[in-house]
Amino acid sequence: MERQNAETLGVRRTGWAALDRDPQQDTIEFLCPHCGQRDHKNARRERTLYRFTDGFLQDLQGEVTQFHACKKYLRVVPVVLLHDQDEVRRFAAVFADEPMAITAAGVLRKTA
Ligand SMILES: [Zn+2]
Repeated sequence: MERQNAETLGVRRTGWAALDRDPQQDTIEFLCPHCGQRDHKNARRERTLYRFTDGFLQDLQGEVTQFHACKKYLRVVPVVLLHDQDEVRRFAAVFADEPMAITAAGVLRKTA
């Protein structure tokens, strides 16, 4: 039996897109597809591994993590790097069909 981790989109905010939190923190935010809770993890992958894809810098390999609330393993992929409010707004438009939304402050929330 093949076991594969569920995948979920992640957002890594930096600079002007992360003014609501400590800029020293470098985290990836995501929603769990199992329980719908929001969580974050420390970003481990170097930003130089991110590739310009569909108008954003994205990590297409992603990072595996265990979700805090339900203990399920997830692959957070792709991880989209957002630098400023313009990118946050573009992200919200491009990923509008995902079961999540991103607020003006860049915070993910579940919509479905
Ligand atoms: Zn969960």
